[in-house]
Amino acid sequence: MSSTPIHCDVLVIGGGAAGVAAASAAGRAGARAVLLERYGFLGGLATAAQVGTICGLYLRDTAGAEAVPVAAGFAQEFASQLQHITGSKPIQLPTGLWVLPYSPPAFARVADATVSASGNINVILHATVSAARAEGARINEVRALAWNEPLIFAPKTVVDCTGEATSAALAGASVENGATDQAPALVFVLENVDPGLIQRGLIEMRRELRRGVESGALPALCERLSFVPGTGSNGRLALKLSLAAGSADLPLWQQVTAWERQSRALVGQLHRFLVANVAACRNAQLDSIAPQLGVRSGRRIQGRARLADEDVLGARKFDRGIARGAWPMERWGAAPKPEMTFFAERDYYDILLDCLRPVELDNTWVAGRCLSAAAGAMTSARVIGTALATGWAAGTAAAFQAQGRPLDEAVAEIRRQMNQ
Ligand SMILES: Cc1cc2nc3c(=O)[nH]c(=O)nc-3n(C[C@H](O)[C@H](O)[C@H](O)COP(=O)(O)OP(=O)(O)OC[C@H]3O[C@@H](n4cnc5c(N)ncnc54)[C@H](O)[C@@H]3O)c2cc1C
Repeated sequence: MSSTPIHCDVLVIGGGAAGVAAASAAGRAGARAVLLERYGFLGGLATAAQVGTICGLYLRDTAGAEAVPVAAGFAQEFASQLQHITGSKPIQLPTGLWVLPYSPPAFARVADATVSASGNINVILHATVSAARAEGARINEVRALAWNEPLIFAPKTVVDCTGEATSAALAGASVENGATDQAPALVFVLENVDPGLIQRGLIEMRRELRRGVESGALPALCERLSFVPGTGSNGRLALKLSLAAGSADLPLWQQVTAWERQSRALVGQLHRFLVANVAACRNAQLDSIAPQLGVRSGRRIQGRARLADEDVLGARKFDRGIARGAWPMERWGAAPKPEMTFFAERDYYDILLDCLRPVELDNTWVAGRCLSAAAGAMTSARVIGTALATGWAAGTAAAFQAQGRPLDEAVAEIRRQMNQ
């Protein structure tokens, strides 16, 4: 067992959308980067929870016939690579929002290829961070178990992309718990579903689920079923089962264990019910259940700036904005559909670099769904397109900082790339 510290410029923790972007940014800026990911594949919720569409890449436009990118830069490059290998195209929803459907294995492959092509990045999979120590305002030691071997890292800078602000919290930074803000959901895929079901807007499925719940054959949660846009027309239908939001009284690890087990059991029950009661599902097979429950909202930092609900709804711009949000607020509560709160069409809001910086730590950045935001603002800023953008910004800032370059230069460089 080795206890020799591994030195690096930038340590990126978590290989979801934000972490892939952060590591790529650090590598391309010439930093020696390490990317740690607890699973055996990259992508985070985009792959492990199989969420199925990238939101936040394009401006909302009810009149426009083409998807217009919210900004140039890494997120668009990543989306282009996905489109290139899968042939997928953006689709427009009735609200004027555009999403890019993707297959989770393709997302993981593009993430692998992008990180590999981005410079000097040491990717360590199956590596779970369990300790982070700060001296003064700097994290100077991070510990992980990599395939059950203990490793120690001595980074110059850290980018926390765990979705739960894990290393920032372990190092003593102030965090807030968002687990009760939104309902989690489990994605599963049915094969051999009559494509007519999706064309009819799942009407008979919803009707039968209602009957099932009213008669007591199904638990009430089973009505909280929605579909992943872009699926169903070829007989392969991806569905999301939303659970009840978390309770503040239970620790999250306990809650997640209960959710995972409860939702998998419910999916089995739902599948049997749909086969027996919905003609379009008579031959449906349960193809897959996402390996991980989708937790929409977790722990996030208290940053030097905080993205407010008014910033999102007012499409507020900043001279030093480093990422753009294009998705409305989308809150998943007890109803089968989310509550959407839109801002103006063809518009976006800016996110400040200080939203990615914990109050107490100087050499540490966060990105993705653990940035500093009010609960409402987070329901917008968490989407994959925005997570790619904040990840890129955090990775660039961390690399510049590790190289002793001024942060103003990092901000200028990120803004130049967004406007290309
Ligand atoms: C059910 C559901 C549906 C959604 N639908 C959509 C959608 O259609 N479109 C969209 O754009 N967004 C959607 N979202 C939101 C979006 O998927 C996430 O907010 C986004 O993927 C978050 O990216 P991230 O990189 O910040 O975090 P994550 O994807 O959570 O990545 C965090 C990574 O860190 C790793 N990690 C965590 N802890 C550690 C540790 N201690 N050590 C090492 N690694 C660690 C994890 O394994 C993971 O890979 C959905 C979310 C859910 C839950």
